[in-house]
Amino acid sequence: MSVPPLVHGPQQPADLLLRDVHVTDPRSMLDARRDVSVRGGSIVQIAEAGSLDGDGEQELIEGEGRLRLLPAFVDPHVHLRTPGQEHRENLQTGTRAAAAGGYCAVIAMPNTDPVLDAAPLLRSLRDAAAREACISVGFLPAITRGLLGEQLTEMAELRREGALGFSDDGRGVQSAGMLRKALQYQRLCGGVLALHEEDETLSHGGCMNEGVVSAALGLSGIPTVSESTMVARDAALAGYEGARVHFQHLSCAASVDAVAEAKARGFRVSAEVAPHHLLLTEQDVRGLDTRMKMHPPLATETDRQTLIAGLLAGTIDCIATDHAPHARDEKEVPFEQAPMGTTGLETAFAALYSGLVLTGVLSLSLLVQRLSDGARLFDLPTPLIAPGAAANMTLVDLDAVWVAGEHGWESRSENCCFAGQALRGRVMLTLCDGSVVYRERAFAMAAL
Ligand SMILES: [Zn+2]
Ligand SMILES: [Zn+2]
Repeated sequence: MSVPPLVHGPQQPADLLLRDVHVTDPRSMLDARRDVSVRGGSIVQIAEAGSLDGDGEQELIEGEGRLRLLPAFVDPHVHLRTPGQEHRENLQTGTRAAAAGGYCAVIAMPNTDPVLDAAPLLRSLRDAAAREACISVGFLPAITRGLLGEQLTEMAELRREGALGFSDDGRGVQSAGMLRKALQYQRLCGGVLALHEEDETLSHGGCMNEGVVSAALGLSGIPTVSESTMVARDAALAGYEGARVHFQHLSCAASVDAVAEAKARGFRVSAEVAPHHLLLTEQDVRGLDTRMKMHPPLATETDRQTLIAGLLAGTIDCIATDHAPHARDEKEVPFEQAPMGTTGLETAFAALYSGLVLTGVLSLSLLVQRLSDGARLFDLPTPLIAPGAAANMTLVDLDAVWVAGEHGWESRSENCCFAGQALRGRVMLTLCDGSVVYRERAFAMAAL
């Protein structure tokens, strides 16, 4: 690749002393109270808590042994809606929402208007991100032109222009022959093929998971096999071609089984799961709240438990929000007509911390790892709290209780499935590539 894969807007290198913060970074083998000194955007020293004094030039942040310093998160699956759908989100608001959620990097999907499927558009998007994005952004252009599944994009050229890989997200690649061709090109030009798995002959017309709840509500269902049969098909194809694929937003038990089998056979596959599939089920659709309408849909409790087990076992490699903003008037329609998707960047950490860590299902350190393991899958540097590393960190208050959306959102959209829920764990400060890119409002006041 001839250009750097991630871009962000102009930044100011931070000079900070984070005094007596509890650092939790499993990759650095750190889980203890420390002083962390940042100069010129780099972590220069990590010392015993209370042993470092600021020199007056550094901003001093007192952690009082209470605030947690975590490696910042990396989301391999977000929709920034630009170009063409800026009434839902843009590079500025989308990356600002990510920073508020503790993220230092996100990977944007190509189902925009026009579709990101050619080099000139990738170039102009990267230029725009270099002006407007407050955190690092990478792009996955489309696998097929216009997401139509008929003609491959110029994958080699797109790779030279900085594509991290390719995805037809929003749609599955329906033709096995077309996907096989893409896999053959992937082997030649590198990058990851990220797959939204859906057999449209099975899912067509459905608006929620097919099962007891869809029957009770009288809504048309999407059977989980529309996803899992495609995961199995594409894992087999990837194995046959020796190519590299990443399965996006797994939503059901059978898909987890298919990925486990592919991994056991040594195929080069990885997978992600979204917070909403880890925390919610089809039961949450009963109220017909359109914020609960996602793609793939929320499935059963058994599916949810299998996804959690897959995440614990490493069958599922990372957590991705699939942040999918929609304007209020687009979502304020009857359930059947509403577009699919929930926002997720601002709530991912708190929702998972409240729902899985505080309940003893997942350890904090595993959650932190899975929230940034997406980086490794796309050959990006993984945020690390260690001397010499660029500061990609987030400071959180694990005791803070907040109601999601109560004070509005950084995102341009508000279609969050966790809106109104009381969550524990609040991001106070985020650093991306050495610069402070987010301060929580109350925290910004206190810091003055
Ligand atoms: Zn998708
Ligand atoms: Zn998506």
